[in-house]
Amino acid sequence: MHLSKSLGTVFTRAPRQTTIRWRLKGSDVIHQRSSILTGCRAYFSQQSRPTLPTPTLNPSSSKQAQPPLFFSITNSSTRTYASLTSADTMASTTPMPEQSMHTSGALDSVWVHQQPYSAYPKFSPLTQDLETDICIVGAGISGISTAYELVRRGKNVTIIEARDVLSGETGRTSGHLTNDLDDGYLEIAKKHGDDGAKAAAESHAWARDRIGVIAKELHIDCEYRRLPAYDVSQYPVGEKKHDEELKELKDEAEYQHKLGIETRFDPNLTVKGWTGKIDQRGGLVADNQATFHPTKYLVGVLNWLKDQPNFKCYTRTRAMSISEKGVEVLGLGHKRVEIQTEEGYTIKAEVAIEATCVPLQKLSVITELEFYRSYCIAIRVPKGSVEDCLLYDNAEEYKYVRLTACDDKDDYMVVGGCDHKVGQEDTLPRFEELEIWTRERFPQATTIDYKWSGQIFEPVDYMGFIGKNQGCDKIYIVTGDSGDGLTHGALAGRLIADEIDGVANPWANLYSPKRVSSILKSLPSLISHDLQINAQYKRFLETDIVDIEDLGRGCGGVLNPKTSKPMAVYKDENGNVTKFSAICPHLKGVVCWNAAEKSFDCPVHGSRFSKEGVCVIGPAKANLSPADEAGKTEQGIAVGAA
Ligand SMILES: Cc1cc2nc3c(=O)[nH]c(=O)nc-3n(C[C@H](O)[C@H](O)[C@H](O)COP(=O)(O)OP(=O)(O)OC[C@H]3O[C@@H](n4cnc5c(N)ncnc54)[C@H](O)[C@@H]3O)c2cc1C
Repeated sequence: MHLSKSLGTVFTRAPRQTTIRWRLKGSDVIHQRSSILTGCRAYFSQQSRPTLPTPTLNPSSSKQAQPPLFFSITNSSTRTYASLTSADTMASTTPMPEQSMHTSGALDSVWVHQQPYSAYPKFSPLTQDLETDICIVGAGISGISTAYELVRRGKNVTIIEARDVLSGETGRTSGHLTNDLDDGYLEIAKKHGDDGAKAAAESHAWARDRIGVIAKELHIDCEYRRLPAYDVSQYPVGEKKHDEELKELKDEAEYQHKLGIETRFDPNLTVKGWTGKIDQRGGLVADNQATFHPTKYLVGVLNWLKDQPNFKCYTRTRAMSISEKGVEVLGLGHKRVEIQTEEGYTIKAEVAIEATCVPLQKLSVITELEFYRSYCIAIRVPKGSVEDCLLYDNAEEYKYVRLTACDDKDDYMVVGGCDHKVGQEDTLPRFEELEIWTRERFPQATTIDYKWSGQIFEPVDYMGFIGKNQGCDKIYIVTGDSGDGLTHGALAGRLIADEIDGVANPWANLYSPKRVSSILKSLPSLISHDLQINAQYKRFLETDIVDIEDLGRGCGGVLNPKTSKPMAVYKDENGNVTKFSAICPHLKGVVCWNAAEKSFDCPVHGSRFSKEGVCVIGPAKANLSPADEAGKTEQGIAVGAA
């Protein structure tokens, strides 16, 4: 996906003259890179927290604010990659609201139209300690696909899921299955070379086809079908930029063809049903791509898994830490994994797989990802009036179109895009933009029945991360899905199952979380992203609302009184007001109100909290603390209260 990368001013959290005890884990370059970004990624040992000079963050305030603090994530005897901070261990008193158990937002996606949450398979929470061969954390497409491949190979597999199955981004997706990847192969080759680009094309093609094979084998009726993908210019015919973009698309088509993708360039390409005044004809055609109904497919796979003796699943069971225990050197000794759940149970496993979409770590791979919010509408069109295809324009914040079944009369046209960095822009206008774009091109479109948004993660070198986590032998991760996370999730099943079985896989290096060279090639964009992220700490100086009285019912915002700490405030439909600390427990960013999904979103690393203050999406694991005396301690840590 091509997205504009704007640069903000730098907020120096840790001035160079302060005594900082740097902690560089392991020997890989990725961690050494932290030292390049002095002041951006210093993280301190909690035990030996240095005394920092107190920079004045709010000149108009009588109180002075301290930089946010970071806690070490290493543990000298074992390696704990998802460890607890003081904030994480705070008892959460607010239960997760039911809507957040089902999905990651106030708005439901189009997939519930034919597959309501009530039709998802039900599993119980874990209520005792457990031993298993393989523990998978997260029941989205990555976790379920990986479970499927491993169970098929005879492994004992247990999934634990923090909420209900399919409650993550998989339930909020838009359903394309393609190896016409968002970032474009000419760009991918710049980071990974021709061989890397070829591996990306082959592996996503395998995943696209694998979903079709499994659907057929398990007799899952999930609208899986083949169709062409069209990439068109974002500009109308006649504009100079239209011709420039067609030239880019022609070059991309030729390169894709060389990689073995069934791609061609068609200067006269038109889409059946695009009869609006705006004419963007011409573009790249990738034949033989696919789409499906994602939750129908995965519910089918889960129902099959449920019947297998070597499969277990526990929902409403959140992993709080995942650690490697023991020592293994040259085949001697034994290392295994322990997973601690929020309820205090321990799962012992030979191998753990974090299929949580968001990395559970404080930092590490998370620093190589950018966090975006992406939007969709489902609008009715008369059946047969729009070609069944995948359509994308070539814009940085692109728009795309595909169809799914609605009823006897109509199809839904799913139109998506308008991405922006999490917590950094207004959310509601994006739906309007999608609607206007659609009606200008497809006048037969009638009513919008669903509007929703979700989160995607963009790795700086374009490829997701699948494989053993940095510094680990027994813990695997699947993350950095980008807009192609469905095929990425299916691919995770093959790559991880092969690695566990000791089968060499030609695509493994491309996705390895331990890769270095493509990440180094991406350093300039990594640094600019880092600066942009750090600029978000400017919210310590800003207030969204001046007076709670002015807040509308059903609305939220951050109140940052000059004499106090930033508070996340929500006023419900009856006018009752709840207040939380506005400080994200992950790395102490100040959250922003997301009016579309009625959540508080952190602009630093994309953690999200429901209007009740409950953590819905990590990397944070704790809720927002209440804005009472207890909560003030947490706020005080973040802003250096007196
Ligand atoms: C609007 C939108 C449109 C998209 N369109 C497409 C598309 O057309 N094609 C495509 O290929 N991709 C698309 N994507 C991306 C794709 O949907 C995602 O990348 C993919 O669904 C991610 O799957 P996952 O299994 O990795 O993560 P998720 O589906 O998010 O699953 C992760 C699960 O882990 C659980 N979890 C998290 N933390 C813990 C914990 N500590 N303990 C236990 N469980 C935990 C979560 O509750 C969640 O259920 C789109 C994404 C969005 C938002």
